[in-house]
Amino acid sequence: MNVHDSEKVIGTLVQEGYRQVESVEQADLVLYNTCSIRDKAEQKVFNRLSDYKKYKKQGKTFGVLGCVAQQEGEKIFERAPYVSLVAGSASYRNLPQMLRQLEEAAVAREIPRPADEDAGLRDDASVGMSPGNTRGSGLATRDSGLVRITGLDDRETDKCFETEFTARSNPHRGYITIIEGCDKFCAYCVVPYTRGKERSRTSESVLAEARQMADLGYTEIQLLGQNVNSYKDPAGNSSARKTFAELLAAVGEVPGIRRVRFTTSHPRDFGRDIVDAIDAVPALCDHVHLPVQSGSTRVLDAMQRLYTREQYLERIAWMKAAKREISITTDVIVGFPGETESDFAQTLDLLDEVGYDAVFAFKYSPRPNTPSLKLDDAIPDTEKARRLEVLMARQREIQIERYKKYVGTQCEVMVEGRNEARSQWIGRTTHNKTLNFTAPQTANPKPGAYVRVTVTNSFPNSLLGELVV
Ligand code: SAM
Ligand code: SF4
Repeated sequence: MNVHDSEKVIGTLVQEGYRQVESVEQADLVLYNTCSIRDKAEQKVFNRLSDYKKYKKQGKTFGVLGCVAQQEGEKIFERAPYVSLVAGSASYRNLPQMLRQLEEAAVAREIPRPADEDAGLRDDASVGMSPGNTRGSGLATRDSGLVRITGLDDRETDKCFETEFTARSNPHRGYITIIEGCDKFCAYCVVPYTRGKERSRTSESVLAEARQMADLGYTEIQLLGQNVNSYKDPAGNSSARKTFAELLAAVGEVPGIRRVRFTTSHPRDFGRDIVDAIDAVPALCDHVHLPVQSGSTRVLDAMQRLYTREQYLERIAWMKAAKREISITTDVIVGFPGETESDFAQTLDLLDEVGYDAVFAFKYSPRPNTPSLKLDDAIPDTEKARRLEVLMARQREIQIERYKKYVGTQCEVMVEGRNEARSQWIGRTTHNKTLNFTAPQTANPKPGAYVRVTVTNSFPNSLLGELVV
């Protein structure tokens, strides 16, 4: 989501007259987009910001965006006084106004600025500049000659950050955000505090963007949201409202769109109608990412996930009964406060029972403001690391077996690029697996093309094959 937020911020600012550059050295304005979902994200951000300090003398302007900005707020100005803008994702709609305020303040202070201002993008960072506003989306203060703008008060907004100017970095596959924020408040998670309340875009606006992307030549669309399937169409006219499954199907039917993916789905809101839509619409990819977090109902309850192991497995059963084989992937947290050896054993057992194609596993990390911060984080880091290692080893075995089954079959891939060192093309299957392949010199498949490949070998995380000519 952060990558796509950066694409939207860049697109918006380019429209305002900014130009994206490759390095901090070339930029007049540096916007640093941050994530605080795990680990010591705040410390990493402050370390990076201290690297930027030296550039302030050159008249560059710095802004911090995203979850760490929302979480740390004005503390960022205290620890990094050379930062001029701090804005959470719910305020991005107002970025042009906030940046215009900065511009006006810079002019008032007679800081020389080129007319054609450049903006730099760092790592998970984006860009910036333009218009003016006050509380609710931007508060400008002038203190000791420093100009500070904040966008931190918008988490209760009903509005999404919609932009027709998204600067998509891939010309074939693009993201569309359909829902922002989260109201689920899982005990360990910062998202509801940093990204604000859940708000959906109208299906009409999502479909208009999908059609526009198809017209521009995109063939794959990925629908995005913290929980895409919690989508609630806010269309005024109730007869025009679509459920998530209906929206998914409608995007899959947009002429020119060959693949539709969606992430992330929450088990609580995962209905059988989503599987029915996959069955009915060929463009919907055979892949569902359904985070389980733990295989123990006791831990799920402590995590406030509001489903049991059995309810989760019921959803898996719906997918396994689908007409096409659906690849299933998940997220797991190990070492949540109070997780016993027996709870952990149930998670390992769940991996075997489901047969995932990929697992994204994390050590529990206590996050600011979250309810689980009050629980005793008694599992030592070494034990969390051990559980993580055991879990990944088990999953590796499962993947070796699952990937082997593809050898000898033919798969359609979208060509993503070329690995010159290996003289291979890189492709992606509908199951979201990487399938690298060789092709005769005369074939020269182009990125974005769809080709058929015979699978000749398998690895734990990828497949190898030959182009069908
Ligand atoms: N909304 C999705 C869901 O409910 O499954 C998850 C979105 S969250 C941005 C991505 C993943 O980060 C979660 O599925 C979880 O596994 C992990 N995560 C979130 N908070 C965490 C924490 N405090 N410690 C470790 N992992 C965490
Ligand atoms: Fe975080 Fe839970 Fe919301 Fe997912 S559903 S974003 S884990 S609070």
